[in-house]
Amino acid sequence: MVKISTIKKSISLEYDVFARPTDLSAADQELYEIAAAALPESYSPYSRFQVAAAARLENGEVVSACNTENAAYPMCLCAERAALAAAASRQPTAKVVAMAITVKSPSQVLAEPASPCGACRQVLAEHEQRHGHRMRIILRAEVGPFYVLDSAADLLPLGFSSDFL
Ligand SMILES: [Zn+2]
Repeated sequence: MVKISTIKKSISLEYDVFARPTDLSAADQELYEIAAAALPESYSPYSRFQVAAAARLENGEVVSACNTENAAYPMCLCAERAALAAAASRQPTAKVVAMAITVKSPSQVLAEPASPCGACRQVLAEHEQRHGHRMRIILRAEVGPFYVLDSAADLLPLGFSSDFL
């Protein structure tokens, strides 16, 4: 009889939860406010789900972007990737050191943050790997707590990267 041995592993995620905007650092609070102010710029006539992201570059410059939908649904672009692309267009070698992401639902007042989709997690993680640094991620819905992660890669455990190529 063959005995099957199994090794069970686990991956844990740590993040900080802040109850109020004033609990954040001044820089993180400002970044969130820039993202929140950009929410109305969302072009989301189909889902009406608004997303905005504000990216802070290492030189302190902030670039914000919103989700942009399209009648050809696969062409929809997420706010997070739009913000990264806008930042890279301005300064191709600049590191994005922090990104605040906020959302607004058309059907409910979200009280818990919505985190980036899988595609954005992949792109955010590669930005970190490419530039050799960590990007703090600040998440909040319309109301409720802030979740702050030290690194975008924390959102993508066992992620694929250029290390496999
Ligand atoms: Zn996304």
